[in-house]
Amino acid sequence: MARVALVTGGSRGIGEAISKALKAEGYEVAATYAGNDEKAAAFTAATGIKTYKWNVADYEASKAGLAQVEADLGPIDVVVANAGITRDAPFHKMTPEQWHEVVDTNLTGVFNTVHPLWNGMRERKFGRVIVISSINGQKGQFAQVNYAATKAGDLGIVKSLAQEGARAGITANAICPGYIATEMVMAVPEKVRDSIIGQIPTGRLGEPEEIARCVTFLASDDAGFINGSTISANGGQFFV
Ligand code: NDP
Repeated sequence: MARVALVTGGSRGIGEAISKALKAEGYEVAATYAGNDEKAAAFTAATGIKTYKWNVADYEASKAGLAQVEADLGPIDVVVANAGITRDAPFHKMTPEQWHEVVDTNLTGVFNTVHPLWNGMRERKFGRVIVISSINGQKGQFAQVNYAATKAGDLGIVKSLAQEGARAGITANAICPGYIATEMVMAVPEKVRDSIIGQIPTGRLGEPEEIARCVTFLASDDAGFINGSTISANGGQFFV
């Protein structure tokens, strides 16, 4: 029977590429999103992948949504916590609202996505937890105190889960993408984009599919001994 994979924020951007790649590998895939119904409908029409709408920042909504996915597709074997947002501002201008919105989505959202699935994975003695962190969680970034803090926190989550889940056949790993050619990055003015690309030794942005291939590998049986790791995919922009 096909394994079941869930991708939060799986209807567009990096998540869309991850959902498609997992489907191509034979997984039953469910993709979640926050509010962009039009994009989600177009994604389902194009891929046949079912989408579900809930706010990852809301524990009860996540729990109910995950239960619905499992009722529809079966127990979730692979969870990809990908949904994330930015609310950038230099620290002296950052508002508590900007801080909390990013923490609630990027950090608490990972807890809310993985926690309701954890006991099921432990009972079935198999699970793959994959969290999409960021290069900026590794190195920090001007005007991203909130975002960098959450993405660094995500690394703490996987390193701890790796230890707790290992004996139960669960692995937890993170991927730290550098700058990837998603709508968000392509929307910045060409001059700014060129200056970003100038900081990347590879001389180009990453492609969402390059992150998706890291995910399919970490989800596979071949990656069973990789636990608590961080894969940096950033074109050589930063080394840990
Ligand atoms: P996008 O903005 O293109 O897509 C974000 C996805 O997450 C959408 O599907 C969105 O739903 C969903 N989402 C956002 N907030 C919530 C929420 N509260 N509840 C549920 N779903 C939510 O993001 P990217 O593809 O660019 O980024 C994906 C991940 O990769 C993020 O965690 C990001 O931090 C990380 N990353 C991205 C990089 C890049 O260069 N793009 C670099 C490094 C890391 P909806 O469509 O309804 O809005």
